[in-house]
Amino acid sequence: MIKTAYISIGSNLGDKLGNCTKAADLIDRIPCCKVMAKSDFYRTEPVEMESSEWFVNVVISLSVQLSAHDLLKSLLQIETALGRERGKICAPRTIDLDILIFGQDIIDERGLTVPHPLMHLRRFVLIPIAQLDPDLNHPVIGETMAELLEKVPENGQAVIPLRER
Ligand code: AMP
Repeated sequence: MIKTAYISIGSNLGDKLGNCTKAADLIDRIPCCKVMAKSDFYRTEPVEMESSEWFVNVVISLSVQLSAHDLLKSLLQIETALGRERGKICAPRTIDLDILIFGQDIIDERGLTVPHPLMHLRRFVLIPIAQLDPDLNHPVIGETMAELLEKVPENGQAVIPLRER
């Protein structure tokens, strides 16, 4: 069955924009997976991190004919290929890939929670995903991305468009 998935891509180490662009290209090359749309890129203030290094973030939508688990496996391989080192949880990272939404599926298993459990609290996710599809329903909360975004305070969560694509 073909589903639409939304992936958050972020980097706050090295060539941040280049890392995000490469990740999107590699995701497009995963078999049974096609990038349908890309949000703008944003410079975003680090949230819940020790690091003061700002991120570049983007959200992409995918048409996928894979299970969420197989998609996650491929995303973890891409993180490794792009030099992601798993040190401290909040350390700077060359690339971070998260499955935000997978169709309207709700998954709560060891190693995979979808929708991503923090997505509704993060402006660096909600702004780009609402740009792609403001009416997209959050299958657990039952509100749209635009509605969720209205509730998150801007304080400490600056999200500034980067003009390049
Ligand atoms: P991090 O890269 O630090 O965000 O954590 C990655 C780990 O979180 C992966 O090894 C996954 O097993 C786990 N995980 C749980 N839910 C998700 C999700 N929705 N998207 C990506 N990783 C997830």
